Amino acid sequence: MQDWHWQQKWGISYITIPEWADMGALAAFSARSGGISYMPFDSLNMGLHVGDNPHHVIENRKRFMLATGGQLEQMVCCQQVHGDRIKLINHSHAGLGAKEMKTAIGDSDAMITNVPGIFLTTFYADCIPVYFFDPVKRVVALAHSGWKGTMLRIAEKTLQSMTEEYKCKPKDIRSFIGPGIGSCCFAIDGSLADKAIREFDSLSDIIRYNNGKQYWDLPATIYQCLIKAGIENNHLNICPLCTCCNADYFYSFRRDKGNTGRMGAVITLLERN
Ligand SMILES: [Zn+2]
Repeated sequence: MQDWHWQQKWGISYITIPEWADMGALAAFSARSGGISYMPFDSLNMGLHVGDNPHHVIENRKRFMLATGGQLEQMVCCQQVHGDRIKLINHSHAGLGAKEMKTAIGDSDAMITNVPGIFLTTFYADCIPVYFFDPVKRVVALAHSGWKGTMLRIAEKTLQSMTEEYKCKPKDIRSFIGPGIGSCCFAIDGSLADKAIREFDSLSDIIRYNNGKQYWDLPATIYQCLIKAGIENNHLNICPLCTCCNADYFYSFRRDKGNTGRMGAVITLLERN
């Protein structure tokens, strides 16, 4: 079973999967500590679009990249519009969106690459990061799945693109559903709950009921969709940490009422020795 761990390097803490690194890919998810941003972005805010000082954000990004073994110029960001477009990434995209939002790849929420040294990067404050790694074809992908992206099935579509564009086999693909808002905190209104139940009528226990409110379990929804799409049980796991419950570690759009920073998710293929 692939397990996730906290790792510390040069004052930066991040979640990673050591087993993937052994097989040739580095996946990481940043936390709040070790950066230079002030409240309410304290301190390792990775988001350029949230009203923080851009010089601080770029320094934070440099520190996170350094801790994970890369440089800013290797980062590729997309604009994350809560849609379902997937971009295939090559050498020519290196550095896009790393220093300014306007160069980030437009109208996309997921990226795939087979180029070592490219750091696919997406940003989060409650939405769910979904990582993919095929150690056989040597392909990595990252999908940003908030409730809208989940409804659009972006994680399954990313998996499908990996099979169509890079000839990956679902049984070879490893996937990790990173930290995001949990069903403990993701209360939704009745009409959205009805929509989710209709869209995912073949899945079980994705809506939880408590004190007359409905709570959507996004990670469980994505998990079940990926299993149905052919990922094997022992190649898929969920980080159970809720971004809204853990203020010391994570920014949360819902908890902080929109005025907050972003964590960064990265995945990169390691160069072969
Ligand atoms: Zn929670």
